[in-house]
Amino acid sequence: MSVLVEEISMADLGRLLQERYEQAAENVRLEAQVRSELTAGQFGPGDVADAGSLASESAQQELVSAALQEQLDRLDAALRRWEDGTLGTCESCDSQIPAGRLEIMPWATHCVPCQRTQSGRH
Ligand SMILES: [Zn+2]
Repeated sequence: MSVLVEEISMADLGRLLQERYEQAAENVRLEAQVRSELTAGQFGPGDVADAGSLASESAQQELVSAALQEQLDRLDAALRRWEDGTLGTCESCDSQIPAGRLEIMPWATHCVPCQRTQSGRH
């Protein structure tokens, strides 16, 4: 299938979201596993010199974990919106968010112009 799909149907989008959600959930699971292994090592007998690098490693892991969790939350919220039938509607101007944008960013709650206005405010 080498056809360039310009329009993705809402059903396709839902399936895509479901897949990404499952993938994200799996990533969170795997990451938690890695983290518990790291933590287990951290509390083992080691010299104090290593404590600093372990701590920064753990802080880095914390960031990864937070990012993965955020991704999962976003996908979860997008799935709910999809079930509600509100996915793809801009929350600011009620216009339809282009399917292409939703395919890349299914959790998008604003169309591109509104998103720009929003981030301009920060
Ligand atoms: Zn808008």
